[in-house]
Amino acid sequence: MVSSSVLGFPRIGMPCLPRRAPYIFHLTAFLPSRVGANREVKKAVEAYWGGKLSADELTKAAANVKKTSWTSIKAQGVDLVPSGDFSLYDHVLDHSAAFGVIPQRYLGHNLSPLDVYFAMGRGRQADGVDVPASEMKKWFDSNYHFVVPEFSETTDFKLVFNKAVEEFNEAKAAGVTTRPVVLGPISFLYLGKAAKGAAAGFKPISLLPKLIPVYKQLLADLKAAGAEWVQIDEPVLVLDAGLDYQSQFASTYAELAPVSSKIMLTTYYGRLDSNLSFVAKLPVAGLHIDLDRAPGQLDEVLAAIKSTHIVLSLGVVSGRNIWKNDFAASIKLGQKAIDVIGTDRVVIATSSSLLHTPVTLAAETKLTAEQKDWFSFALEKAREVAVIAAVLSGSQDAKVAEALEANRVSIAKRREFEATSDDAVRKRVAAITPEMWVRKSPFAVRREIQQKSLNLPKFATTTIGSFPQTKEIRAIRAKLTKGEVTVAEYDDFIKKEIESVVRFQEKIGLDLLVHGEPERNDMVQYFGERLKGFVFTQNGWVQSYGSRYVRPPIVVSDVSRDGPITTQWSSYAQSVTDKPMKGMLTGPVTILNWSFPRADVSREVQCQQLSLALRDEVIDLEKAGIKAVQVDEPALREGLPLRKADWKEYLGWSVSSFKLATAGVTDALQTHSHFCYSDFDDIFPSIQALDADVISIEASKSDLKLLNTFKQYGYSNQIGPGVYDIHSPRVPSEQEIKDRIASMLETLPADLVVINPDCGLKTRGWKETEASLVNLVNAARWARKTY
Ligand code: GLN
Ligand code: ZN
Repeated sequence: MVSSSVLGFPRIGMPCLPRRAPYIFHLTAFLPSRVGANREVKKAVEAYWGGKLSADELTKAAANVKKTSWTSIKAQGVDLVPSGDFSLYDHVLDHSAAFGVIPQRYLGHNLSPLDVYFAMGRGRQADGVDVPASEMKKWFDSNYHFVVPEFSETTDFKLVFNKAVEEFNEAKAAGVTTRPVVLGPISFLYLGKAAKGAAAGFKPISLLPKLIPVYKQLLADLKAAGAEWVQIDEPVLVLDAGLDYQSQFASTYAELAPVSSKIMLTTYYGRLDSNLSFVAKLPVAGLHIDLDRAPGQLDEVLAAIKSTHIVLSLGVVSGRNIWKNDFAASIKLGQKAIDVIGTDRVVIATSSSLLHTPVTLAAETKLTAEQKDWFSFALEKAREVAVIAAVLSGSQDAKVAEALEANRVSIAKRREFEATSDDAVRKRVAAITPEMWVRKSPFAVRREIQQKSLNLPKFATTTIGSFPQTKEIRAIRAKLTKGEVTVAEYDDFIKKEIESVVRFQEKIGLDLLVHGEPERNDMVQYFGERLKGFVFTQNGWVQSYGSRYVRPPIVVSDVSRDGPITTQWSSYAQSVTDKPMKGMLTGPVTILNWSFPRADVSREVQCQQLSLALRDEVIDLEKAGIKAVQVDEPALREGLPLRKADWKEYLGWSVSSFKLATAGVTDALQTHSHFCYSDFDDIFPSIQALDADVISIEASKSDLKLLNTFKQYGYSNQIGPGVYDIHSPRVPSEQEIKDRIASMLETLPADLVVINPDCGLKTRGWKETEASLVNLVNAARWARKTY
C-alpha cells in the first residue's frame, strides 16, 4: 500500500462554503457576525489583541479551526494527517516558546505566557511595558516570515510545554490519528541568531549538545502518547549550508532515533544535492523529498537509499503553487520509486506544507468554471495526494478512476489553453535584443540632462510613493466594489486626495513630489488587475506573517498591457503643481515574486512579458510629461534561489528585466528604484547593473555598514538611504535625521545623496507623517548649508 500524506496546512480556518459545496465539514460557527466568512484565526487573534476576546475564547476558536482542518484533510482520504503545525502567530515562534527560548526583555512584566508569546511576535506597548518585536525573516524563499530565535552561550532549553503531544492528543480526541510535525533541531538552531550581548564568535549550533536532551524528551513523550510516525522538518538540508552540519546530523539523529516514533526526516523547497551522501546514512525510518521543486533528484535519492529500509515520501503535489497536479506525471514518478524500492516503502505527499496555498477553491464564486478547473488549493491538494496514492496502490475504486479521468481531461484542457495563449506577446518577447536593456547614454551624461530638466537642489528630498491610506480612502474603494458609488464619483474623490497630497508636499517643501498612490489597493494587485494574463481570488488568503495575510494574484497566461495604467493619475498630479512629479510603478520582478506564477512557462519569460508591459508604461509616462519614474523592486533580493549555484541565472534575468522595463526612454527621464530589506553585500554588482539613476533603500534600522559596500564598489549613481523608520508611528527628531545624514556622508559623496524616508507611508497616520516629513525637510535644508 502506498500511503498519502500532507505536510502541513494553512492556519486560517475554512472559508464558509457555498451550500452546494461538495464537502461536508463541520464549519466553525465562530463569531460569524464580526468575522465574516473566513480567516477565523486572524480575526480571533486580532480580537484578542483588541481586548474583545478572552484567552479562553481564543483557544476555543483555534481548537475549532484545528479540528476542522484535521477532519477535512482526513475526509479527503489522506492517511497521514499532520498535527502540531498550527500556530496563532508563527511555528518557529511556537517552537522557541515551547523550549523556553525567550529573550530576557520579554520577561518580568507580569504578562501571561500567551502575552509573552505575542510580545515576542509583534512587540508590546501598553500599561508601562514597551518592548519591540523580535526580528522577522523570510522563511526560505517564500513570502512567509518567521520570528527569529535568539540564542547565546547562556541559553538553556527546557520543554515548557509539549505542543506536539498536546495537539496529537487533541486530534486524537477529534477522531484523527495524526503524524505530528516538529521543526528539527539543526534547522531550529540554523534559523536563529546570536542575541545581542552573546559572546564574540558565538554560534547557535554550539548549543546542540544542550538541545538534544530536550528533543529526546519531546520525542519520547510523543512516542508514549502513541504517535507511530513523527515528521521532523530539516529544511536546512536543501541549502548549501546543510553540508556544514553533516557530523551534527549524524550524531543528533543517532541519539534521537532510538527514543522516537518512526522519524520522517523532511526536506522541502529544493534539492538535497551533495547533502544526500550523509542524509542517506542517517538512522531514520523515512525521508521526504521535494519533487515539485526538484523532480530531477529522484533517481539519485532512490539509488542512495535502495539498500536501506528508508521509506521514501515523494513530494509530488506542490505546496508552493496553486496549479492542479498532473496525475499522469506524478504517477510516473511514483511508479519509478515503486519499481526500485517496492510499494510499501513509498508515500505520496505534498512537496511542502500547504501553508503557502489558500484553503479551498470551493469558496471561489467569481472564477470562471474554466479557470477553476486549472487550480487546486490546500484541500483539493489533499484529495490529489490521496488519489495518486490510491492509483499507485492499484485501487479499483470507481471514484478513484473517475478522479483520474477528470484530471486527465482538466490537464489536457489547460495545455490546450496554454498553447493558444497570446501570440503577439510571445513574438514580442522573442524579439527582445540586449540593446533594449541599455539607456542611451551613461549615467554621467544623463545626470546633466536630468539636472537641467528637473532642477532639483543638492540633497533633494522625496518620498517612496504612498501617503497614508486613510479610512475614507478604503471606504470609498469598498463602495466602488459594491457599486455604491460610480466610477466618476470615485475618480473625483481620488483626484481630490491627490491634490491635497500635492498641496501638503508643496507646503512642507519637498522637492520631488509623488501623487500618493491613493488609487492602489496593493502595489502588486493594482497592476495585476490592470494587466492581461492575471486572475484574482476572493478568498485566496495566504499567511505572510502573524495575522497578516495576502491574496497573491495568479498569472494564468501571457501578460500584456491594454493601454496606460497610471498616466491619468500621474498627469493629473503633475497638472496641479509646478514641482516635478515622480511616476510610480511596481517592478516586473516584484510583481512576479509576489504572485503565483504559471508553471508551464519559465519565470524568466513571465518576467520579460511583465517588463515589456511596464516598459510601455514608463514610455507613456514620459510622453505625458512626467520627468522621473520610480520602479519599485522590493522583492528582487528575496527571490534569490536557495542554492548559490542558481543565483547567477536568476540575477541575470531579473536584472535584465528591470533594465528592459526602464531603458525605453530618453536620457532626460530620471529612473528611480526602491528596495526594502537592503541586504546587498552578496549581490551588489547586480544592484549596480540595474543602472537606475536614483535608488532608495530601507536603511534606518541598519548601522549604515551597507553604505560601505556602495563605496567599495565605487557606486556612481544617486542613492537615498532611508533616514527614518516608517514602520513605527514614532516621530524622528530633526536632530536625529541630521545625525543620520551626517553619518551617511562619512561614507557617501554629498552630491550622490538624496533624502527620503525608508519606505512608503501607506500604513502611517497623517499626524506622524506630517511631523516626520517636516523634520526631514528641515534636516535636508541644514545639510545644504553644512556640506
Ligand atoms: N511605492 C511603494 C509605496 O510607497 C513602495 C512600497 C515599499 O516600500 N515596499 O507604498
Ligand atoms: Zn520599502
